[in-house]
Amino acid sequence: MSAIGNSAASRDKAFVLHPYTNLHAHETQGPLIIERGEGVRVYDDANNAYIEGMASLWCVSLGWGEERLVQAAANQMRKLSSYHIFGHKSHEPGIDLAEKLIGLAPVPMSKVFFANSGSEANDTAVKLIWYYNNALGRPDKKKILARVRGYHGVTVATASLTGLPNNHRDFDLPIARISHADCPHHYRNAKPGESEEEFATRLAEQLEAQILAEGPDTVAAMFCEPIMGAGGVVVPPATYYEKIQAVLKKYDVLLVADEVICGFGRTGNFWGSQTMGMQPDILTCAKQLSSGYLPISAVMVSDAIYRACVDESKKIGTFGHGYTYSAHPVAAAVALETLAIYQERDMIGHVRDVAPLFQRRLRALADHPLVGEARGVGLIGAIELVADKTTKATFEPVGRAGAVVNGLAQEHGLIVRAMGDSIALCPPLVISEEDINQVFDRLTKALDAAIPVLR
Ligand code: PLP
Repeated sequence: MSAIGNSAASRDKAFVLHPYTNLHAHETQGPLIIERGEGVRVYDDANNAYIEGMASLWCVSLGWGEERLVQAAANQMRKLSSYHIFGHKSHEPGIDLAEKLIGLAPVPMSKVFFANSGSEANDTAVKLIWYYNNALGRPDKKKILARVRGYHGVTVATASLTGLPNNHRDFDLPIARISHADCPHHYRNAKPGESEEEFATRLAEQLEAQILAEGPDTVAAMFCEPIMGAGGVVVPPATYYEKIQAVLKKYDVLLVADEVICGFGRTGNFWGSQTMGMQPDILTCAKQLSSGYLPISAVMVSDAIYRACVDESKKIGTFGHGYTYSAHPVAAAVALETLAIYQERDMIGHVRDVAPLFQRRLRALADHPLVGEARGVGLIGAIELVADKTTKATFEPVGRAGAVVNGLAQEHGLIVRAMGDSIALCPPLVISEEDINQVFDRLTKALDAAIPVLR
């Protein structure tokens, strides 16, 4: 045996560079190795079961072991296991999926571009926006707004859009021409006594001031997750989108809805844009598009954007953008089967049936001594841990309380995700009421166990 040892844990430490991990701590702590999944549960290599309260990373909507998706992948693998759609080539799974998505779009959309991840979809959206404005002869209209605590990915451009310090720090980001608007989190950012509507009005005024300061002729687009996920599950206040969309329209600034988490039923409607009243010019989606079984993402664009791209490609000779695996036939086949299952099993109906229990149990946690706020919509939510419920003071250092509750939840057989001191929940959409109760029973036990550790 080598000095590394034979166990999966020791080989992990020897060979794997982990995403989103404290690499130094990992050298001593090592991994939790997940071996298999069934329904809403995953099992580690010692056969301990966990309810996956995050559907992996906000994506495994149908739970683990959905045989129809396995079959869809196997059938497509046998028929056409790989192909591209560059230079006028195409294939039916890609065509069918594009047609299906256009039919499902929350506002009229013209075309679908496929990529492999949420980051690539949003990166593509950035490039399309720049290409579009060049086509329209507006070379200065290129700046893009996103929001503090927004999350749009980790490529150079999308990490720049992401409004979280750790995605910029020491990566020499953000790049030029990207800036961040205020975070629409009422609990943290409203003034004392300010109603949701008043807060929304102020945010829209601040957005307008920001666009005017940048110069309206230089601002091209704004990226918004309908509900902000990785920044701590922030549900914007009532009337927010109505008000900011009026500002964006006034200055001819495109709206990009990043539906990477909210799309496909998560919020109780097919799209988060419908739940939140957004009319995007570009929509990006991924994750639940294939129930997370294979990597695939999509960018939907309005006809105006598509027509401008046609003109520009005519001028240049090509539309010079695309990924080898854009519309990968196996991923597309799995996505099509996922969408068929959503429809046949009335997944939206199921979310609407069980979400009231999920939200009731979530909001009941606001009474817990460690919880300052419980927030969410549909089957997504978060609790924010505070040291003092009256002053909303955080525990020091920020992030420790989240890590403690995260670890204790895992000990109680529940996987959650700590984002700073907010604990997110985003279970598979297929979750039953019984398992929703299990999620909250376990989380409550974890919170109770955290009191003596944190105080
Ligand atoms: N956009 C949103 C809203 C996300 O939540 C994520 C990932 O969590 C991304 C984009 C990036 O997606 P990916 O990790 O697939 O690149």
